[in-house]
Amino acid sequence: MSSVRNRNESAWLLPNDGTRTNHALRRDMRRFDDRDELDLLVVGCGAGGSVLLQRLARAGWKVAALDAGPFWDPDTDWVSDEAGSHHLYWTEPRVISGSDPVPLGSNNSGRGVGGSMIHYAGYTPRFHPSDFRTFTQNGVGADWPIGYGDLRSYYQEIEEELPVAGEKWPWGDPHTYPYRPHPVGGNGELFLRGADKLGITAKVGPVAIVNGRFGNRPHCIYRGFCLQGCKVNAKASPLITHIPDALAHGAEVRPDCMVTYIEVDERTGRATGVHYVRDGVPRFQKARMVAIAGYSIETPRLLLNSASKRFPDGLCNDFDQVGRYLMVQGAPQTAGRFDAEVRMYKSPPPEVSSEDFYETDPAKPYQRGFSIQTVSPLPITWAEHIAAQGHWGAALREYMSDYVHWSCLGALCEFLPQPGNRVTLAEETDRHGLPVANFSYSQCENDTRLMKAAQSVMEDILHAAGADEVITIGRYAHLVGGARMAADDKHGVVDANCRTFAVPNLYITDGSVLPTQGSANPALTIMAVTARAADQLTG
Ligand SMILES: Cc1cc2nc3c(=O)[nH]c(=O)nc-3n(C[C@H](O)[C@H](O)[C@H](O)COP(=O)(O)OP(=O)(O)OC[C@H]3O[C@@H](n4cnc5c(N)ncnc54)[C@H](O)[C@@H]3O)c2cc1C
Ligand code: SF4
Repeated sequence: MSSVRNRNESAWLLPNDGTRTNHALRRDMRRFDDRDELDLLVVGCGAGGSVLLQRLARAGWKVAALDAGPFWDPDTDWVSDEAGSHHLYWTEPRVISGSDPVPLGSNNSGRGVGGSMIHYAGYTPRFHPSDFRTFTQNGVGADWPIGYGDLRSYYQEIEEELPVAGEKWPWGDPHTYPYRPHPVGGNGELFLRGADKLGITAKVGPVAIVNGRFGNRPHCIYRGFCLQGCKVNAKASPLITHIPDALAHGAEVRPDCMVTYIEVDERTGRATGVHYVRDGVPRFQKARMVAIAGYSIETPRLLLNSASKRFPDGLCNDFDQVGRYLMVQGAPQTAGRFDAEVRMYKSPPPEVSSEDFYETDPAKPYQRGFSIQTVSPLPITWAEHIAAQGHWGAALREYMSDYVHWSCLGALCEFLPQPGNRVTLAEETDRHGLPVANFSYSQCENDTRLMKAAQSVMEDILHAAGADEVITIGRYAHLVGGARMAADDKHGVVDANCRTFAVPNLYITDGSVLPTQGSANPALTIMAVTARAADQLTG
């Protein structure tokens, strides 16, 4: 594998003078005209979209990415403050339904260049080999049309480019990380202590946070504002890990452009470009190929909103697959109180994790499993945790004033893909007059059992570490699926290379294409799948 700088120079293109943005690179970036026919146009500049843009720009393609949100400048746009960071989220209207509706909006997906990784926590575990074969191995979920082996080298590439720090990883396909593990704070120490007492293996990492120096990116300063955008540039997001290199190689990033419709030529059946709105003005950008990477809700929504005479039920939806098998991880969160001060805010929330419970255990009454990680909510999120427990008024104030004594763990439970958990179009429209997404979600029995099991293990760990009180709330995390990869068009929307079955020059390169989700945070896998798709396109 060639040295990371030869593949991706982003970290060296950032300034080394105490500021965070290379303004000259943005000012001088190549700009295409709407009438220029791009080799490929990317819709959405998040985890998947940015990797594709950078890879294709490096290969000399004429590429641009349109994103509905701004081109962030960490120095001026972000604050180390929970209340002041809501603008990082996608807060356009969405409708939720089903028997277990998933709250969307304030803490779910991102907007703007860098996408949801601007405010993600920074955990970057790999999927396990079993995640690609859950149907064959466990009779649940789905088999991917690719296997873990197809992604291994891409995982390694992306881990070097972010870069990822962590201990030698014993689970799944055992592997090492390019950077040594970070020192841990009070929350991580308690997790390690409790797990050790119970014979559970817990390890430090894997986190996409610089431990040392990487190019012109500095060391993490352990202030714990990772979910607010990391003003330091220590936490990886495509804004700093892939966009600078893409711009340096001739890509255009066009912010504040909401794509509204994918145009397909009725005669040839090929995509010809996208309609988008900028500053209230409708426009059309021509392109020879299009890739959608708008996140698991907005990608299926855009496909459904792109219905035409040829695709009356939505683009690529001839077999009613668009929007289906959307998954969310069950993410119960358990907090434990300790007499000593923990001060869980004094470090990045992602510190320590365990994948001991990831695989199916035949002795358990459920298939698949869960992982456990430190989460470390800041005060407002802590108040939400307490309020979700039913505490209010004086009791809430008491818990809040006791904040420094609490430690917090979160689980990620592998909820299963189900056809009925899907995005459809709602009656309600957004400010562009487009129907918004209706996301219907219901848990199955296996999901509920996993949540209970994960809760019980987390409570045991915190008790074993010495907690005198533990409280757990139910939550969800990480949406993936909705335009999944499959062996054929009756079972999914894209093939093994992320190309849609229905339109030969239309690709989907974001979390929507994942057929299963494991108990791993998804960003690294989204990037690895996209890097592989880019290789297939350019190779
Ligand atoms: C609080 C929080 C913490 C998280 N922590 C982790 C973590 O620790 N580890 C991890 O792996 N994952 C984490 N995630 C999830 C992770 O960030 C996402 O799964 C991942 O970024 C999704 O990548 P994507 O490419 O599918 O979409 P995104 O990264 O969300 O990118 C989509 C982009 O498309 C743009 N867009 C959407 N629609 C349009 C349109 N019509 N026109 C133009 N642009 C459009 C959006 O503005 C956005 O920039 C976290 C998420 C949240 C909410
Ligand atoms: S703790 Fe480290 S990674 Fe997190 S916001 Fe601060 S500097 Fe960035």
